[in-house]
Amino acid sequence: MRLQALDAALDRRAHDVRERVGTDLRAVDHEGALAVLEHVDGAEVLLDRQKLLARHFGVDWQWLPQAQLREQVRSERYHDGLFEPKAFHFHPLKYARGIATAAGALGLTLHEHSPAIALQRDRGIWRITTPTGEVEAETVVLACGGYLAGLRRPVDAAVLPIATYVMVTEPLGARMDEIMRTRAAVYDTRFAFDYYRPLPDTRLLWGGRISVLQRSPESVERLLYRDMLKVFPQLRGVRIEHAWSGLMSYARHQMPQIGRIDDELWLAQAFGGHGVAPTTYAGDLIASAIAEGDERWREFADYGLVSALKPAGFVGAQMSYWWAGIKDAWKDLAERQG
Ligand SMILES: Cc1cc2nc3c(=O)[nH]c(=O)nc-3n(C[C@H](O)[C@H](O)[C@H](O)COP(=O)(O)OP(=O)(O)OC[C@H]3O[C@@H](n4cnc5c(N)ncnc54)[C@H](O)[C@@H]3O)c2cc1C
Repeated sequence: MRLQALDAALDRRAHDVRERVGTDLRAVDHEGALAVLEHVDGAEVLLDRQKLLARHFGVDWQWLPQAQLREQVRSERYHDGLFEPKAFHFHPLKYARGIATAAGALGLTLHEHSPAIALQRDRGIWRITTPTGEVEAETVVLACGGYLAGLRRPVDAAVLPIATYVMVTEPLGARMDEIMRTRAAVYDTRFAFDYYRPLPDTRLLWGGRISVLQRSPESVERLLYRDMLKVFPQLRGVRIEHAWSGLMSYARHQMPQIGRIDDELWLAQAFGGHGVAPTTYAGDLIASAIAEGDERWREFADYGLVSALKPAGFVGAQMSYWWAGIKDAWKDLAERQG
């Protein structure tokens, strides 16, 4: 319950992020998000979540019974859904570039392609080594996600890098309306869920699966194409423009790790399963802690650096993904036969 409540609080911060993303950085693509049910017996989970969010956080998610949902998302696979009107989906690269431009305007210089390869504390100062030189810093924030900083063993040891996959179709034009009448982002409620969103130029961005394996673009495309056709057989023959995989960081306690871990050394990682919005929240939290002594980061103290038990953790994670996948497939089969 505690984890769920904190998670919901983080979700709610998405609405604060919205102002920055939408107004200043112009990265918002469309409004709204839809959680859809692939299995009949998932309804309770969604209804509980709807109640929890309304009761504790004043968030209004609207129940969409099957007939209404299928008007919006034209797939036979879905039962009912929850619509979150205040959600939004946005272009993460535009967002990153927007933040870089805003930082530049404040006089900051960003150095791309300069990996930090060592970090040492030396007479009250941090020394960061790069392939071409050294930087001295009063304060360091490690925010290296699933790509692992390689700078502090306990920090890297506390997360599992887990891959997820995305592809983008060619522009669908009028065919977009054959599959979706809404422009909301959609995700289903299975463990390894499909997530997709219509882009402003009528391409469909389709994501899904979690795995310990990074895959080639060809293999990502093959897997996701199959998944997409299960939901929208109408799209058979559609060309895929891009496919890729990337890494997220997961902690064993499934919460982000945010806070101070040494003198003037801060951490923000393990956002896998939580997404981009809480990363922005963590950035705000750590910035105000460093600049103003804000102590709110301590609220995350219970979710610290717990070993992810690598390499056994990888095996455990993959087994539990497979097991969850098998359970989902079993439910699929049972429902489609019965
Ligand atoms: C394919 C994919 C789809 C996703 N879809 C969604 C989605 O639809 N919605 C959503 O909310 N979230 C989504 N996510 C999750 C989201 O991208 C992450 O939660 C978020 O990016 C985490 O942010 P971060 O800053 O912690 O890590 P990252 O964004 O991974 O950034 C970490 C950075 O640290 C750099 N780095 C690592 N080590 C070093 C070093 N030693 N020196 C210098 N730099 C270093 C890396 O190069 C990287 O640029 C998706 C993730 C993936 C991979």
